[in-house]
Amino acid sequence: MTMTVPTNLSRRSFLSASLGSSALILGSTALFAEETGIVPTMIRAASQANIEVHPLRRNISVLEGSGGNIAVLTGNDGKLVIDAGFTVSKPRIESALDSLSMDPITRLINTHWHVDHTDGNAWLNAAGGAITAHENTRKHLSTSTRVEGWSYTFPPVLPEALPTTVFADEKHLHQNNTTIELKYYGPAHTDSDISVVFDEADVVHVGDTWWNGFYPFIDYSTGGSIAGMIRATKRNLSVVSDETIIVPGHGPVGNKAGLSEYYDMLVAIRSNVSTLKKQGKSLKETIAAKPTAAYDAKWGQFLMTPAIFTELVYSGV
Ligand SMILES: [Zn+2]
Repeated sequence: MTMTVPTNLSRRSFLSASLGSSALILGSTALFAEETGIVPTMIRAASQANIEVHPLRRNISVLEGSGGNIAVLTGNDGKLVIDAGFTVSKPRIESALDSLSMDPITRLINTHWHVDHTDGNAWLNAAGGAITAHENTRKHLSTSTRVEGWSYTFPPVLPEALPTTVFADEKHLHQNNTTIELKYYGPAHTDSDISVVFDEADVVHVGDTWWNGFYPFIDYSTGGSIAGMIRATKRNLSVVSDETIIVPGHGPVGNKAGLSEYYDMLVAIRSNVSTLKKQGKSLKETIAAKPTAAYDAKWGQFLMTPAIFTELVYSGV
């Protein structure tokens, strides 16, 4: 069952509505400016988007439409929510949560510190969700943090938006007759990424280590790298089976076959870009050589364009 609240904003209309043709023509400089950049674009999209509800398995569902994918575990112990979306989506996220069950919200987990996964922390915490995250998520949210790739500096969040339970490597939780395993990746998309496994249901939320169907953003400013993304994806592949339901940070819920294809894409593009850089090519020359060409039709149609993704990989090889 897929339940849709208000009108849908498809990926394509998202692009044309929010970026506009001028931003697309001007390329990355315009994309990364404060007003037309990635962050305001994501907020504008969330302010217009429906929240789609996708039931997965057992008592686990995904809410899609406000920044990163939000997973929800329902039951008598209260709802456990993974990632918080953008605050502008609060009324629509509330309706979506109510449509699943009337259990109160008792816990919120952040997969990493980025705004599209933590902006709603304050209201979800006020609603009852005690926040758990990796220690670096708390660190980045506590202080002013610059993301060069977004040309954006985030001020410290309100105290009520900070995780109150943090961990370094692993943490196990029990809620609603479910074992929930949180595990740090090490530096990957940032230096704060964790996976969240629901054991009995065989469902895993891998945060922004996987963008299903899109080139991923990699945040070098807070410890991310192409090597870290590949390492994290290798780990994801090693812990899932063909039956595992995999919730990516962005894009539709997927499976091992889709994740394998993503892995192959990351490895091939890293190799192509690395070869060009070793030949002494500048970033501009490397982008002009189109090292992502074989993958652009499938992966290059969203926020991270072929040129932007090439630049992200180039920074790390
Ligand atoms: Zn992210």
